[in-house]
Amino acid sequence: MTPVIVLSLMGLILGLGLAFASDIFKVEIDERLEKVTDLLPGLNCGACGYPGCSGFAEGIIDGKVEHLSDCKPGKDEHYDAILEYLKDHPAPDGTVTNVQK
Ligand code: SF4
Repeated sequence: MTPVIVLSLMGLILGLGLAFASDIFKVEIDERLEKVTDLLPGLNCGACGYPGCSGFAEGIIDGKVEHLSDCKPGKDEHYDAILEYLKDHPAPDGTVTNVQK
């Protein structure tokens, strides 16, 4: 009976430790990142100079990308959709990205 109690207590303590650690080390992710990634062509070709579409989307969100046309396979419909989305969804601090076509 003692091993069962000891293992149960160890499980409880380790579980609480993991819950505590996950709360401390959680990473905040900008909700716009997933949407902008979805609005890109999705070829993950790297022609934009970023490691795939999610990397390019992260550059857009972070303000590192100046021109959406750096995504060579992209068409006006992709660029317009992204610009429209970002216009309606500014950063959490209220800043609007200055990316252009
Ligand atoms: S160039 Fe466009 S399609 Fe290719 S990885 Fe970059 S964002 Fe994706």
